Amino acid sequence: MGWTDERVEQLKSLWTEGLSASQIARTLGGVTRNAVIGKVHRLGLAGRAVPARIDRPRLPSAPRVTIRTHHVPEPPVVEEDPITLDDGSHATVLTINDRMCRWPIGDPSENEFHFCGRKPKVGSPYCEAHARKAYQPQQPRRDKGRMAS
Ligand SMILES: [Zn+2]
Repeated sequence: MGWTDERVEQLKSLWTEGLSASQIARTLGGVTRNAVIGKVHRLGLAGRAVPARIDRPRLPSAPRVTIRTHHVPEPPVVEEDPITLDDGSHATVLTINDRMCRWPIGDPSENEFHFCGRKPKVGSPYCEAHARKAYQPQQPRRDKGRMAS
C-alpha cells in the first residue's frame, strides 16, 4: 500500500499528536513501522514537538524576569552643590582624599576647577548622586548653566 495524500496527512497528524511509529503503522494499516519512520524523515517531521507529558510546566502567570535598561526611568539625579571646605574653598587636587567624592566640577584648566568633595558612596569614588550620574549613558544636562559660572 502506497502513501496517498490522505494517508500522508493522517501520518502527519498522528505523528504530531505524539504517536510512535509503530502505533502509527498499526493505525494506518498496510505499512511497517520502518516505512512510517522513513516517510516521517522524508517529510521532515522528525523533529516533532515534545510530547505533552514531558513538556515543561507552563507558568503563564509567572512574571518574566527581564533586565530592562532603558524602559524604567531612573529617578532624577539630585546633584548637590559641592562642599565648601573650612577655608571657604572647594575640594581641589590638593585637598581631595579618599573620603571625598572625586566628581570633577568645572574645567580642569581653570582655577575654579574642583571636586564635589561630598561623602562618597560605599565602593565608589563618587557620592550617591555623582555615582549614579557616572553610570548613566550620555544624558543631556538638565541643569544647564547652574554649574557654568
Ligand atoms: Zn559628588
